[in-house]
Amino acid sequence: MKVEFVDLRREYQEIRESLRGQVEKVLSRGCYILGDEVQSFEQEFSDYIGAGHSIGVGSGSDALYLVIKALGIGEGDEVITVANTFVSTADAIARNGAIPVFVDVMEESYCIDTLKIEEKLTTRTKAILPVHLYGQPADMEPILAIANKYGLHVIEDACQAHGAEYRGQKVGGIGDVGCFSFYPTKNLGGYGDGGIVVTNNEMLANKVRVLRHYGQEIKNESIVLGINSRLDELQAAVLRIKLKYLDKWNGSRITAAALYNELLAGVEAIVPRERASTKHVYHLYVIRMKDRDNMRRKLSAKGIETGVHYPIPVHKQRSYLDMGFKEKLETTEKICGEIFSLPMYSLITEKEIRFVTDAIKETTGGNGG
Ligand SMILES: *Cc1c(COP(=O)(O)O)cnc(C)c1O
Repeated sequence: MKVEFVDLRREYQEIRESLRGQVEKVLSRGCYILGDEVQSFEQEFSDYIGAGHSIGVGSGSDALYLVIKALGIGEGDEVITVANTFVSTADAIARNGAIPVFVDVMEESYCIDTLKIEEKLTTRTKAILPVHLYGQPADMEPILAIANKYGLHVIEDACQAHGAEYRGQKVGGIGDVGCFSFYPTKNLGGYGDGGIVVTNNEMLANKVRVLRHYGQEIKNESIVLGINSRLDELQAAVLRIKLKYLDKWNGSRITAAALYNELLAGVEAIVPRERASTKHVYHLYVIRMKDRDNMRRKLSAKGIETGVHYPIPVHKQRSYLDMGFKEKLETTEKICGEIFSLPMYSLITEKEIRFVTDAIKETTGGNGG
């Protein structure tokens, strides 16, 4: 048996028939950029998150980049974020000429340690950018309280957390603005790149809308220096169909995670811990083991693919060392040598999960399986 880290063909098989019709409709209509599909999807996604405005863009990275630009954050400004994330989070800050200021994460959630934010604030701090990592919401209440106290923007990186909830509210709609990616492997993914910005702030929404489209509001009139970054009609048509399945597919991920938890009880591994009053949507199922590399090798030999998210924290990446980053982040640097991600996607089967956990038990020699 082989267990792939993710198998995107299964979701495709489930929606194949409805996709065919939609794709044909878009191709026949003859409008491929900024047409009805994008507009409808933006509305449907706003409704899903519970926010006033959505702007479809070219990727999650561009969503973050454009939001920071639209907020007027640039040269010399600082943005509080984490190093235990995909590098794109911090890149969006640095590419705007601003400085990512890294705060350590909590051992329980792998998300930003809210007790360590205030000590990193300076007069140049403009925003806090928490990441809802692996599908688990960051602790938004203290973040909003700090932001409120110091007059900072809150930008949510919800690229791994479509449908996740914090105290009954969908993430991405809790701070000033949320950013999502539709990269194919995300909980809601297209068949190419895509992203979206979600906000209740109409002025900010309008700015992002102009920036994604060459800085133009009216054809051939550039009012600010913009870029070309739009969600295309085909991706929007696909996403409109997949959005209808999101809750169901997230539910399957949650069931899969619960089964992993149950089967891994008794193994010397730290399984994901969910904070009370949150809905974790398990973009990734991340566990921690002391001899991680050895375990991954053994699983690979048995046909099981695993991943590490992420092996090198952002501040230790070559590009960031070259920019002069040299802080020490104790928990971030400790966990990156122990964490690894087991196969997880909406349509993974119970049999596959049992195969993975049996293999882990055989390798640790514990608990028979
Ligand atoms: C995927 C991801 C991004 C970037 O999204 P792209 O669409 O790949 O550009 C940013 N932040 C996080 C946390 C991500 O997981």
